[in-house]
Amino acid sequence: MRPEIIEYIALFLFGTAIGSFLNVVIYRIPAGLSIVKPGSFCPKCKRSIKPYENVPVLSYIFLLGRCAGCKSSISFRYPLIECSMGLLAILMLWKFGWSWDLLIYTTLAAFLLSLTIIDLDVYRLPNPITITGSIFAIVLTLAFRRSFILDMILGGVVGIGVLSLQGLVGSLIVRLTRKKKTSALGLGDVKFAGMIGLFLGPGQTGGMFILGIFIATLISIVLIVAGKRGWTQRIPFGPYLAAGALLSLFYGKDIWAWYWSFLKL
Ligand SMILES: [Zn+2]
Repeated sequence: MRPEIIEYIALFLFGTAIGSFLNVVIYRIPAGLSIVKPGSFCPKCKRSIKPYENVPVLSYIFLLGRCAGCKSSISFRYPLIECSMGLLAILMLWKFGWSWDLLIYTTLAAFLLSLTIIDLDVYRLPNPITITGSIFAIVLTLAFRRSFILDMILGGVVGIGVLSLQGLVGSLIVRLTRKKKTSALGLGDVKFAGMIGLFLGPGQTGGMFILGIFIATLISIVLIVAGKRGWTQRIPFGPYLAAGALLSLFYGKDIWAWYWSFLKL
């Protein structure tokens, strides 16, 4: 049975509330601040934000994007992240219906979204978030889909294994070519891929790498051709992994089927 429109709207609103919490996580975790204390406040005038000013998306519209105290503008990315999380939640409902998978993959989406923004902001994937995500993956699997336990373990191994190998080869190349001791890939990326692997299992994690690298290559070429970026500039890999993970989750099977039929021609 397909969910009703009203169910999509309800889940979208619930998603924006999660997004509102993600805004707090994205702002505070990289800065080493607590996510519970103090309550939300304006970063400019430090005025604490009242509950009715903290309604996802709506408050931003009613306040016309300005702090009620000092009138300084509130970044547009707050409502944008809230809407993105709402959208991700209803995409999961569309794909999985009302099921435990909806809960599990919406949880994954929340971690993907927050880590993507943090990686773009500060080029880091903080341990407290990747480790919390991994714990969520394990607890949800043990509670709601026991048949997936082996897939979960293998997914984690594939996620960590592929990126460790890539990091090893990458830093070897860097060391040989530049004679400098730098790692081509952060440990944060490895833990991030491991976390996603626990949620997706080995097959879709493999798909995530292929799709993620494909998207990263495509965008890099576009940026280099457009003259916006040099060959050696550091790019955060997290967002590409996140995009690859979502694509693999939604269309992995279709893409494989298309690929094999393409080979047989
Ligand atoms: Zn203010």
